[in-house]
Amino acid sequence: MKGSSTRSVNNKREQLKGWEVVYRGFDPSLEDLRETLCTLGNGYMGIRGAATESGASKVHYPGTYIAGIYNTLATRISGKKIYNEDMVNCPNCLLLSFRVNKKKWNEKEKIEILSYKQELDMKKGVLAKSRRIRDGAGNVTRIDETRVVNMRYPHLVSLSYRVTPENYSGELLIRSFIDGAVQNMGVARYGELNSRHLKPVSAGALGDDLIYLNMKTNNSGIAISEASRLRIFRGGKRRPYKRKIINRKDVIGCELSVPCEKKKTVEIEKVCAVFTSRDGAPGRPGDNAAAAAEKAPSFRSLSGSHEKAWKELWRECDIKIEKDLFSETILRFHIFHLLQSASPHNTKIDAALAARGLHGESYRGHIFWDEIFVFPFMSSHLPKTAEALLMYRYRRLGAARKYAKKNGYKGSMFPWQSGSTGDEETQSVHLNPMSGKWGPDLSRNQRHISFAIAYNVWRHWVISGDSAFMRDYGAELLLSIAMFCSSLCFFDKKDGRYHTEGLMGPDEFHEKLPLSQRAGLKDNAYSNVLIVWTLLRAMEALDILPEKKRKELKKRIGVTDKELARWEDISRKMNVIISEDGIISQFAGYFGLKELDWNAYRAKYKNIHRMDRILKAEGKSPDEYKVAKQADVLMLFYLLPLKEVEGLFERLGYGLDRDMLRKNYLYYEARTSHGSTLSKVVHCYVSHLLGMKKTAWEWFQGVLEADIHDVKGGTTLEGIHTGIMGGSIDIAVRAFAGVYVAEDVIRVEPRLPSGWKRMGFRLRVRGRWVRVKLSRREVHVKLEAGGGKRKGLVFEINGRKKRITPGRERRIKIKK
Ligand code: BGC
Repeated sequence: MKGSSTRSVNNKREQLKGWEVVYRGFDPSLEDLRETLCTLGNGYMGIRGAATESGASKVHYPGTYIAGIYNTLATRISGKKIYNEDMVNCPNCLLLSFRVNKKKWNEKEKIEILSYKQELDMKKGVLAKSRRIRDGAGNVTRIDETRVVNMRYPHLVSLSYRVTPENYSGELLIRSFIDGAVQNMGVARYGELNSRHLKPVSAGALGDDLIYLNMKTNNSGIAISEASRLRIFRGGKRRPYKRKIINRKDVIGCELSVPCEKKKTVEIEKVCAVFTSRDGAPGRPGDNAAAAAEKAPSFRSLSGSHEKAWKELWRECDIKIEKDLFSETILRFHIFHLLQSASPHNTKIDAALAARGLHGESYRGHIFWDEIFVFPFMSSHLPKTAEALLMYRYRRLGAARKYAKKNGYKGSMFPWQSGSTGDEETQSVHLNPMSGKWGPDLSRNQRHISFAIAYNVWRHWVISGDSAFMRDYGAELLLSIAMFCSSLCFFDKKDGRYHTEGLMGPDEFHEKLPLSQRAGLKDNAYSNVLIVWTLLRAMEALDILPEKKRKELKKRIGVTDKELARWEDISRKMNVIISEDGIISQFAGYFGLKELDWNAYRAKYKNIHRMDRILKAEGKSPDEYKVAKQADVLMLFYLLPLKEVEGLFERLGYGLDRDMLRKNYLYYEARTSHGSTLSKVVHCYVSHLLGMKKTAWEWFQGVLEADIHDVKGGTTLEGIHTGIMGGSIDIAVRAFAGVYVAEDVIRVEPRLPSGWKRMGFRLRVRGRWVRVKLSRREVHVKLEAGGGKRKGLVFEINGRKKRITPGRERRIKIKK
């Protein structure tokens, strides 16, 4: 799309140009947000878009995160020792700066920024910054910088830093560092927690232009090695230089002077290599980093291969929208950041998709259920990456088994927050920034994380059609989780129904019943229905497996015929509470809670997203009120097609009246503060289902703006929200384009928003690339040729079934 769209962020403007996000002007108060939004990454690592010249300061926070690198530290809070596992902020290899006509480095040199432009080019995966600065002596310099975190070579980072003196000639005093004196200081709320995760091992110089730094995480003992090569070019020619090495053990750097001439550009090229002892690569990380930095080709050649890798990714993952530049650019922006957070490189490492990406330290880099919103995109574009994310869970089945046992359950219970080992990483206390007080954190009782994993396994199988993955890994995950599900349920003879207790749904404001001593809730509807769904899918998975594998798995996991009969029984007698008006009770006792005076709270606090913090600071508890942080009951209708939910309720013996979805939407929407961005995704999808076009569109705008405009005011600077990013793509494809991959057919029922003229994208379904193009009048579906003699796929386009064979295209008119 040509053109550009400009929207206001706190009265500052960014320009969206389809493939580029452009910021003009430097505003220290917006830097932290822009640093997150301009993070570059490749699935192996992510580097925040912070100023190259600065370490952590009041304005900048240059975080470097490597997927799967965690470390645990203890901190004493209110007399109690608590432990936190963090995704470690690793050494900053990009640090580089210069001074004009100085013999000695002056750290505090006053620099005035005359102009500033920052451009994130998503097509090429490149961040470019241009600025003009004036130092205390009046020297004006133009700096043009381009950085790349390589998508082809995941261990390499490169920087081209071009310095042009505008009104002087003389000498540039340059300093380049690898800064290992970094700490995890990216989230103000965690300020009281210990944050120094690294200890120095060795540092030094190699050859004429290399420096290296070897460090270790101080508890998990992971070796992290970085090396950097610095080259200087003038007039297009490489110039030798003499350097002074600065070695402070955890910071290694070099200082050098190079001549410069007015209006002539000096190019500083920095190429860095990052390795760890968790790479699974042969050799020591230190040797690997030094060798990779030494042998790396030029910046230009590295950029070429990097851009090619992005081109290949975009060929498969892009979504084109005609006549709505804002939606098109932001959907790309979301795809871009997801691919930076988990990419094809994840197939070689043991790491998963952190809820806040590789972009910041919120939630300590932990892995939650948010991936349930991202899997539809991953499974239908990068099935191998999706599998790698599931393998992260598979490798932690042992830990999940132990966790279940410790809590008196069978099967596998995954932790609500997961890090390196698969143990529970949810903190037992959390800080309420409104009151400054630490209080108990019961959120670990969100056992639905395990159901989410089962859901992801099943949907991945449906979309990818990868029977080998299901046979070798998926089925074991499903069955182990089903065992856990079954052990959560108890039968009550009085009502002849199965119940659950002690669980929390996705709505984190409700941790228990008011005044109850027991954590968690009884009969959370979302959990109970997903338990039934999981048991049914697990039984189906058993049917799909080859005889030998089925027997072996059943024996290993302990799925006896008696257990299977219990699954069948639960799937017909699970309890769900429904009011006479057809409202599904979020949990037992929900209807007895107090109503909140929403208008009064809105008037008093303006931003009431975090009603939990407000109520607690007032000495009350959200447990007492009908106030939800996010969609809970409605989440069922986001995950499962309406017919499937109806089928499940029917199986359980509950009649649902036809207007039930609308009633539940209106009921719960009025009682939700949307304290989690995920809530908007769900409300957008459900209102779309209900045909509430205007409302769905407004929600969608909220989903798109969530991160780019940090609508919650201060959360995005601590990392992106991968869930909402995945959710936005899911809505575009599943709701607006109406493409849903069911078990037997691919359904296409488009309902494009009125501002979208055309839409186009690809999906990989059951091993084949499907190209979809839509307009208000027509649907084009093409199955790309190649991929052997497979027979094609069955589509149901606006209710009409058609088999489309490879290489063939179908055009179908949409009836008005
Ligand atoms: C939400 C959770 C989510 C977590 C991590 C919380 O605020 O309530 O649903 O998993 O953030 O993104």
